[in-house]
Amino acid sequence: MTQERPEGMVDPGEKAPIRDLLAYLRPQRGVLVIGGVLALVGSAAALAMPQMAQFVVEAFGSGRSIAGPLIWLTVAVLVGAVISAGGAYLMERTGEGVVMEARKKLVAHMLRLKVADVDRLKPGDLLSRVTGDTTMLRQVLTNGIVESIGAVFTLVGAVVLMANKDIVLLLVTLLVVVVIGGMVALIMPKIQKAQLQAQEAVGEMGAVLDRSLQAYRTVKASGSEEREIATVTEAAEQARRRGLQVAGWGSLAGVSTWVAIQIAFVAVLAIGGARVASGALDVAALIAFLLYLFYLVAPIGQLVQGAVLLQNGLAALKRIKEIEELPAEEPGVPGGGTAEPVGVTFEDVVFRYGEDRPLVHNGVSFEVPPGGLTALVGPSGAGKSTVFALLERFYEHQGGTITVGGRDIRDWPLAELRQALGYVEQDAPVLAGTLRENLLFAAPDATEEELARAIARTRLDDLVARLPDGLDTPVGHRGVLLSGGERQRVAIARALLRKPRLLLLDEATSQLDAVNELRLREVIAEVATETTVLVIAHRLSTVTNADRIVVMEGGGVRAVGTHDELVGADELYRELAATQFLTS
Ligand code: ATP
Repeated sequence: MTQERPEGMVDPGEKAPIRDLLAYLRPQRGVLVIGGVLALVGSAAALAMPQMAQFVVEAFGSGRSIAGPLIWLTVAVLVGAVISAGGAYLMERTGEGVVMEARKKLVAHMLRLKVADVDRLKPGDLLSRVTGDTTMLRQVLTNGIVESIGAVFTLVGAVVLMANKDIVLLLVTLLVVVVIGGMVALIMPKIQKAQLQAQEAVGEMGAVLDRSLQAYRTVKASGSEEREIATVTEAAEQARRRGLQVAGWGSLAGVSTWVAIQIAFVAVLAIGGARVASGALDVAALIAFLLYLFYLVAPIGQLVQGAVLLQNGLAALKRIKEIEELPAEEPGVPGGGTAEPVGVTFEDVVFRYGEDRPLVHNGVSFEVPPGGLTALVGPSGAGKSTVFALLERFYEHQGGTITVGGRDIRDWPLAELRQALGYVEQDAPVLAGTLRENLLFAAPDATEEELARAIARTRLDDLVARLPDGLDTPVGHRGVLLSGGERQRVAIARALLRKPRLLLLDEATSQLDAVNELRLREVIAEVATETTVLVIAHRLSTVTNADRIVVMEGGGVRAVGTHDELVGADELYRELAATQFLTS
């Protein structure tokens, strides 16, 4: 079940430090340096052009041949173009590398989070962090930072050359540019905030859509398509609103620089014209200066764009870091252990899902010897599934002791503990892929013989024989092409291939017909001859032959015994049995 979490995780006031962003660039620094050099050569070629233009004009004036200066001008254009294109390709390459690294790192961390943390997160939002936010990183790193470095070089070069032409005109230009620069700097934090909210809205959209797709049939059966569409649309509109804010502030910054250049142009033309008239400057130098002024447009624009992208990247990085900063746990190991059965004890176990949540286990104690079949029964919400979650250490119990094979589960290395357990969830999930892939999911190295044995033990031979491609038939997304009973037996076979020392089976017999239920009962009884089986029974019919039955109620254990003993001794059990017509 997806847990709702109303509050967003992000505090829009905080931002990720640029240092974190640069950390993503470090592995790519070789290519980056080459790309940077190409960018520098490209901008040097570009900067040479106005100088060439000045030579051409001067050649005209002095009556010399213009062929030489024109050839140099052409060479500068061509070299500049080729080098810029090469540099751009290298930068894109770096960007792809950065995105891949960021995705690998994020995904590797995401699959190692603690179950308790994942409960709070929305899967769709997590997905958008891996796909969307990492893409934003690429933009900031390539188009943002790298182009900005090239732009700074062009800018500095242009300013130096302009100073060389006429210092008065340069001061006029710089005054205008500095005023506008200050304005743009004020706009940047607003862009980052709006961008973070835009990314959050995209994440929210993913989360809502994921919820609808997960419960696709329920959505249709409830006639709530329109309402779900409206919720997703609302998130999309929110993303649009925030995106428009980003665009609005961004274009304000862009237009400010454009206006600045125009003002500078008019000022330079007026003052420069006066200086030409007074003989302080010649026309060719004024033309070159004006050309340099227009050369400022692109790098200033790039710098502003770079600053905007940097804000976007920092917002995205913040969302990535939020996940990466959550604690990870040791990953499990696939493959089978030894089938040597282990026992389990719960001693005064106290557990709640969160500090503000009610106690789910309030002193749970019971004992399961190695081997045989033990059933957990009790009303819904009694905390039966929680017993399994604690055994798998999806959550940490707050009090009491849980042992597996006589050893405190806190002393087991996590991977080893999980390897000793086979776990069949209540909704017996089957993943997309072929039947074989599903069966081998927990033990990829199992032999054909082991596979055949697990199939036989779980009575899946009929199914395999019936499927068009046998074991290699795809089972559909989430196993939709299998029946409920088949899915459950596939999940059991999968768990058995791991040769568990303790099989945890959260069975949902309610979805099985009589034939399938009988099969399941046979399978469980057979498995229990080889390993310890702990089964949560929602229907008592499956467990009347259990070696012991633990009756849970209201966060504790009420009674333990065999079916016959409990019918005689425990009122709740008798009631449960009576409602299911078993006492007669
Ligand atoms: P059922 O027979 O209906 O499956 P159960 O006996 O297995 O019930 P549990 O699933 O263990 O009961 O749940 C016990 C209580 O813990 C319930 O009140 C439930 O709301 C709560 N609970 C279960 N899982 C979580 C979770 N991940 N986060 C918060 N609370 C939870």
